[in-house]
This record gives sequence, structure tokens and C-alpha cells, in this order.
Amino acid sequence: MILEEARKAVVAYGKKLVRSGLTRGTGGNLSVYDRKRDLWAVSPSGIDYFAVEAEDVAVLDGQGRLVQGRQRPSSEWELHLEVYRRRPDAGAVVHTHSPFATVLACLGWEIPPVHYLVGFAGRKVKVAPYATFGTPELARLTAEALGDDGAVLMAHHGLIALGADLDRAFAVAEEIEFVAEIYWRAKAVGTVPLLSEEALADALARFADYGPRRKA
Ligand code: 13P
Ligand code: ZN
Repeated sequence: MILEEARKAVVAYGKKLVRSGLTRGTGGNLSVYDRKRDLWAVSPSGIDYFAVEAEDVAVLDGQGRLVQGRQRPSSEWELHLEVYRRRPDAGAVVHTHSPFATVLACLGWEIPPVHYLVGFAGRKVKVAPYATFGTPELARLTAEALGDDGAVLMAHHGLIALGADLDRAFAVAEEIEFVAEIYWRAKAVGTVPLLSEEALADALARFADYGPRRKA
């Protein structure tokens, strides 16, 4: 089986997406890109995350052609590919319908720097314009709005996040969902003060040296 490790990771993180409340039903999708082989693995379309097996995870090439997989690739495969094309730093992409991010996406509100963890995505989280799910138009509009950020909200739809690997892409989706919830809750009570440019820049600089010791 080609990309066996990546396909198993897609299966494992799919379950994690549901368990952590970042998506429900068959909503959302996720992928991993092997840059050396120019092949990538993406979750199958419309299958319960707990029923998905590694063989169901589709393997596509850099042109989006199906290389292996007994199920159809996610309806959003073009969205994933468009992100990989524009972002050579992306090794994994996670798309969710997480509730608070989706509330803000439906309102068309970007997430301002209300909490330093917005830094997982950038200085703020923008909103990409609406287009029908699974279309090249959605892929283009969303990847364009994403720009150099780590995540972007998708109007009337959800969120997309990327990272060097699945662990990171998942963490970005999780942290941005947290910030979306905090923003929504704070907004419901009163006027929400935001972090200054300087405070946010300090936090972003700290992120560069955050986390466990890296292997040499
Ligand atoms: P798939 O099951 O085809 O991945 O679609 C889910 C989704 O979130 C569409 O935007
Ligand atoms: Zn979706």
C-alpha cells in the first residue's frame, strides 16, 4: 500500500477530529502531502470517520489524479490541492465544521487578536468568501484568502487550517476553535478589548521558541 503511514495518520486524526468536537458526522476532511514523492493522502468522501480504513484513504498525485484508494477522495480535494500548491510549507491540511469558528464564519466576522493564541494562525483569522462546497471556485477563493496565514474561516461553512504535519494542522484548528469560542463568549457580554500590535508581535516571536525540545 502506498503512503501507508500517511493514510493511517489520516484515519487516526479523523477520529481525533470527531472526539475533540472539531467536526461531526462526515463533515470536514484532512490530508497529508509527501513532498518528496509528490503524492498525497486525503480522507474519503462522506464516510463515517470511525468506519474509515487506511485503504479507503485516497492517494492523489500533484495533478489531482487518483493513484490508489477504494473510495472517492473528499469532495474538497481541490481545496486541499490548491492550498498545497500555494503553500510549499504545508505538509498537512485539516478542514473542520467546528461550532464556534463556524458561527463566526456564518456571521462573516474575522477573528481579531482577542487572545494571543490567534497567533497559531497569524495576526487574525480572515473570512474567505462563500462558494459551493466541493467546487474549484471554493478552492481558489479560500486558498487566496488564506494567504500566508495558518488558518482561514470559510463563509457559511467552517474553517481550514494547515501545518508542516498533521499534528500541527490539527493543533491550529483546535486553538483557533478555542479563540473563536472565547471571542464569541466575550462579545456576548460586552465590548472586547484587543491585543496591541506590539503585544501580539511579542507573542508571535515567543511562538518561534515554544514547545518541547526539538530533536537535533
Ligand atoms: P467530504 O466528506 O466529501 O470530505 O465532505 C465534507 C465537507 O466538509 C465538505 O465541505
Ligand atoms: Zn466542509
